Amino acid sequence: MPVTGLGPYDDTNIFARILRGEIPCRKVYEDAHVLAFHDIAPQAPVHVLVIPKGRYVSWADFSATAPDAELGAFCRAVGHVARELGLESDGYRLLANMGTQAGQEVPHFHMHLFAGKPLGPMIS
Ligand code: IMP
Repeated sequence: MPVTGLGPYDDTNIFARILRGEIPCRKVYEDAHVLAFHDIAPQAPVHVLVIPKGRYVSWADFSATAPDAELGAFCRAVGHVARELGLESDGYRLLANMGTQAGQEVPHFHMHLFAGKPLGPMIS
């Protein structure tokens, strides 16, 4: 697995607990491979997190080791969520923090989806 500063997959991380139903979430979408839910501390009017159900620490881990079916399902789900939330006309931003230097706090790969206002050149 690539070095990320995150260590091996930890089944006690908050998203693993959400996937097991131990912690509630405001679900937006779910299928066999993917769960999407609202961020608990939104940084934009729409701030959704899309996560694979598999045990992937980071984007580096997911992109290198996930089977094609899971990679494909994840990409399709991100697009589906954006469409279902009506975000395509005004646009949206996708962002994945990879590793501790990038600010990744939860060691289960996730994609942020931001929308609902002019987002400017960056969210930092
Ligand atoms: P990261 O910094 O890219 O790892 O982003 C982690 C995100 O998870 C942050 O935007 C947090 O607000 C969000 N988050 C942490 N705990 C929860 C939760 O229990 N439900 C929903 N979002 C959460």
